[in-house]
Amino acid sequence: MKIKNLECWSKDLKLTEPYTIAYETIDTSPHVFLKLQTESGLVGWGCAAPDLEVTGETAAGVLGHFQQTIEPYLRGKSPFQFALILDELRTLIPGNPSALAMVDMALYDLVGKKAGVPLYQLLGGYRDSIPTSITIGILPVAETVEKARQFIASGFKILKIKGGSNLEQDIEKIRKVREAVGAGIELRFDANQGFSVEQSVQFIRATQQAGIELLEQPTAKENESLMGEVSQRVQVPIMADESLMTLKDVFRLSSNNYTDMINIKLMKVGGITEGMHINSVAKSAGIESMVGCMDESALGIAAGLHFALSRPNILYADLDGHFDLEDDPFAGMIRLKEGVLYPPELPGLGWKGA
Ligand code: MG
Repeated sequence: MKIKNLECWSKDLKLTEPYTIAYETIDTSPHVFLKLQTESGLVGWGCAAPDLEVTGETAAGVLGHFQQTIEPYLRGKSPFQFALILDELRTLIPGNPSALAMVDMALYDLVGKKAGVPLYQLLGGYRDSIPTSITIGILPVAETVEKARQFIASGFKILKIKGGSNLEQDIEKIRKVREAVGAGIELRFDANQGFSVEQSVQFIRATQQAGIELLEQPTAKENESLMGEVSQRVQVPIMADESLMTLKDVFRLSSNNYTDMINIKLMKVGGITEGMHINSVAKSAGIESMVGCMDESALGIAAGLHFALSRPNILYADLDGHFDLEDDPFAGMIRLKEGVLYPPELPGLGWKGA
């Protein structure tokens, strides 16, 4: 099986509702799509959702790397050499994790199609569905509560609330949302590095009664020991997100006891192959994983979902990045029912189109 034809193009996907997190407001999501075709006519799909702040890339940059490096390198290669391909590409285009994730995804799509099974089964098939959280960006308290009500009414059981720029308001939000949604709904909080150690501890204490399931990236990624300090001082698990970009990161974070959980996003780590290595290190340290996402086409979310379903150690999913996209070419790829995600039961990633 050899790769014969390669196509790559960029497209900005608009968000139906712009949202704000601790450091920016977002209204579009740049994407780069990849279509690989083998000699026998099998098609593999991939996408990159580059983000200067998170992955350090732009769509133009990813496209440039495709033209100059990926395209000539991949032509004639077998998708079954994916470990070699990704290893070599990582050296050829260092610091381009979403471009790597795009290639990784398309290769796995081809391998799954050749095997004739959905990717999550090929990778281990540990589960066949997983509940996802849905995110509420930074909004005034009343609007946050209203959104929480709407999401629960539409079947979601896990809310991820963003904050980190106003401690008092964050505390009030959690209390009010808990009042509104009642027990039995999980609340996760993502401070996106916005808190100090003291603020993190204060936040956890003040929301103890409301109860949050986990606190994501409370403190600055530049000083990881701060996150470690928070983790030592509170009972609620602390999850590293921005601090975790590479395999080296998870080794360092876990060896130093800086985190209790990790958030693996395919776009920041460079795809499923690297995600599996990262998750294995986490497992060895007794750290549970979540698969998260950027604002991503349902194609990228499907890749994250197949990965999440394949590993015992991945207990959490935050795969909601496709819900608010206008004109996503892969819309409808994943089934959502009562807050639970189900993968397409078709070979590979499972896109029905050729
Ligand atoms: Mg996060």
